[in-house]
Amino acid sequence: MKIQRNTKQRQLILSILMEADRPISINEIYNKVIEKLPSIAKSTIYRNIDILLKQDLIDKYHFHDNEIFYRIKADQNEHKHYVMCDQCNKMFDLPSCPIHDIETAMEEEGFIIQKHQIQISGICKNCAGRKQINTKRHK
Ligand SMILES: [Zn+2]
Ligand SMILES: [Zn+2]
Repeated sequence: MKIQRNTKQRQLILSILMEADRPISINEIYNKVIEKLPSIAKSTIYRNIDILLKQDLIDKYHFHDNEIFYRIKADQNEHKHYVMCDQCNKMFDLPSCPIHDIETAMEEEGFIIQKHQIQISGICKNCAGRKQINTKRHK
C-alpha cells in the first residue's frame, strides 16, 4: 500500500493522538491543535481526520450519546474496543471483540460487514465504590 505523505496539520493530529494513547474527542483534538496552529478552522481538522480514517491510521469511536472520539492505531490491522465510565470518563479496553462470530454468520448470508461499533456504558470500580460510600454516609 502506498503511504501518502501527510501534511504538517495531519502530522500534528497524529502526534496528539499518539500522545493521548486512548480515544480522545474532537474537542480535545481541536484544543490541542490550536495551541500549535491558532488559526486552523475546525472544518480543516475534520477534513484531515477523514483522510487519516481513510488511510486506516486512526479509528473512530462513539461514546456518551454519540460524541465522536478518535484513536491512533498501532498498525492497520489493530482492532480494539473501549468502554468509558459514565462518571469519571476513564477508558477501559474491551477484552475481545464479540462481533467476529456475528460477522461469520452474516457472511454466510452474503452480507459483508465492513465496519462496526460497540457502545457500552457503565460505571467503573472507583466510581461505584464512591457511590456506596456516599449512600452509607447519608443514612
Ligand atoms: Zn469512573
Ligand atoms: Zn470489533
